[in-house]
Amino acid sequence: LSVEIEPVIRFVVSNFELLHSDFTFHQDIDGIHSTRIRITPQHLEQVLVILLDNAVKYAGDSTDIRITAYTSVAQWLTLEVQDYGIGIPPEDLPHIFDRFYRVDKARSRAAGGTGLGLAIAERLVRRYGGRIEADSEPGSGTVFRIHWPLASGYALKNQPE
Ligand code: ATP
Repeated sequence: LSVEIEPVIRFVVSNFELLHSDFTFHQDIDGIHSTRIRITPQHLEQVLVILLDNAVKYAGDSTDIRITAYTSVAQWLTLEVQDYGIGIPPEDLPHIFDRFYRVDKARSRAAGGTGLGLAIAERLVRRYGGRIEADSEPGSGTVFRIHWPLASGYALKNQPE
């Protein structure tokens, strides 16, 4: 079980470009050509959709979203989804992967959704041996960073950083 991730990323991003033509989706993923990770394509798609959907929902006035993927010497893939939107206050950041947690109930309800997206994404990432983290600055934006071991197998015994 493994999937070549570059075509999956391009496919999901092309759907978002169709749905959200007012946004620019920057893809910096050339370095991962033919890179494979151990996940089903459906679950990789699901994780990407959750992160990109949030990036659009919480974009504020910005219209740029950046998707970056690269591999490191230690046989890990890093996948980042960066937005330049409203950001997440530091006191909320530790809770955003909890089920039903939402930073601003009223605003989140207006934007739609259930508060389950990131909880599902986090479980999926972990199920395939990876981990997900978020960095954010209110008013400047948020980056979600996923680390996954490459399908070569070596990295499964090692942790990133
Ligand atoms: P859904 O279940 O449809 O995704 P949701 O967006 O409310 O609904 P999560 O995806 O779990 O739920 O996100 C939890 C909360 O984290 C959101 O309500 C929002 O407050 C915050 N959040 C998530 N992504 C971002 C982001 N890119 N920028 C700012 N806040 C975010």
